[in-house]
Amino acid sequence: MKCSILTPAVTEIQNQLVLLDAAGPVDGSSASLSPRPLFGLEAEALAACMVGAGEPAWRGRQLAEALYRQRLPEIDEITTLPKLLRQRLAAQGWQVGRPKIVQVFQSADGTERYLVQGQSQGKAQDAAGKIGAAETVETVWMPEGDDGESGDGSDQETPEIPGDHRQQKSSGDQNSPAEGAQKRWQRATICVSSQVGCAVNCQFCLTAKLGLQRNLSAGEIAGQVLSVFERHGVEVGRDRVNLVFMGMGEPFLNYDNFMGAVRLLVRETGLSPQRMTVSTSGIVPGIERLAQEAAEFRPKLAISLNAPNDQVRAEIMPINHKWPIQAVMDAVRQVKLRPRERITFEYVLLGGVTDRPADAVEVARLVRRTGLPAKVNLIAWNPGPGIAYSTPRPEAVEDFRATLAGEGIPTYLRKPRGRDIYAACGQLKRTVEG
Ligand code: SF4
Repeated sequence: MKCSILTPAVTEIQNQLVLLDAAGPVDGSSASLSPRPLFGLEAEALAACMVGAGEPAWRGRQLAEALYRQRLPEIDEITTLPKLLRQRLAAQGWQVGRPKIVQVFQSADGTERYLVQGQSQGKAQDAAGKIGAAETVETVWMPEGDDGESGDGSDQETPEIPGDHRQQKSSGDQNSPAEGAQKRWQRATICVSSQVGCAVNCQFCLTAKLGLQRNLSAGEIAGQVLSVFERHGVEVGRDRVNLVFMGMGEPFLNYDNFMGAVRLLVRETGLSPQRMTVSTSGIVPGIERLAQEAAEFRPKLAISLNAPNDQVRAEIMPINHKWPIQAVMDAVRQVKLRPRERITFEYVLLGGVTDRPADAVEVARLVRRTGLPAKVNLIAWNPGPGIAYSTPRPEAVEDFRATLAGEGIPTYLRKPRGRDIYAACGQLKRTVEG
């Protein structure tokens, strides 16, 4: 077995790796081979592959450095590898294969929404050159954030590991920052997708309309982050950038790939898991697994609560039939929080449905009953075509916030970002209009 030290996170592409040193086409071209992405493999797996190809293991570290720190998009640009080796890898169908930003929508408020093309194996485009529906996901860049991380301990952590060796490039594509561009942001939040579509069917969410089309691989999840880093010239260790796994999909229904992406980002880019928040609709086995993760890799946890009791929650989130609020809270209590860390409860205010002061009193009671340091993020529902809810009145939002705060619950109102480009919470549906 050539790649004997493969980690569990990469077993899904183990077969590809084993073939690394197989002979390529006789003519040396890669035309007849399916593309095989290196992006998504951790350093150990890359090292095992290099060994399998008759190269020293430290070549794997060079590859990891090139893929994740320097963020090089093409094998041919990895000049730390000998030219012959680069040619051999390419001839065997290997490519960097980092997901690419293929379309950008810019909001008046500075938010950007991206269509990101994944690592599909050869069916990315139809005969007309259109990218297939299951091949793209959405990722959102919010300069200055949306206040979602306020009060959850994000800003009290120790700095990330310094040492970004990124090379500045000017390729002129959608994934690269303009040369010499000045950063106009002090901090930023990236909203990352974990699946194409979603099976959870929350009634207020546009993504739910797509149904589940497929899970993203660990490389496709981490690749969204690095493509956005590249576009905005983010320097890990210096810039204040938070990740929220709150885009398309339910991360805990794609748990292994989601955590594979987190481990990759922590190990290979130096990002801190304390700069990452994963939001779940309440998938109890996923919360229990997260509670078992080592602190060095565990992102912070947000629960998408959205209702004051089981009756209302089951109406707007059918998943509540399977895992009611009490079961979710019991699982949440298994998470060992870091000093100053808080659990976040996300609460979408639906006009006339979940936004009464009496609802706020019930929510406060639920949160207190967890016995955990916690906070509530309020989100005024963002409208979407074909969804029959209404945005709450501003006075109702303020009353709700004041009632919760009056009950002693730290409460924050998330700013709607990028509503004009369908980038706000619950609006991600691969809408092509800007
Ligand atoms: S809110 Fe999240 S979990 Fe619910 S349907 Fe939308 S994407 Fe899925």
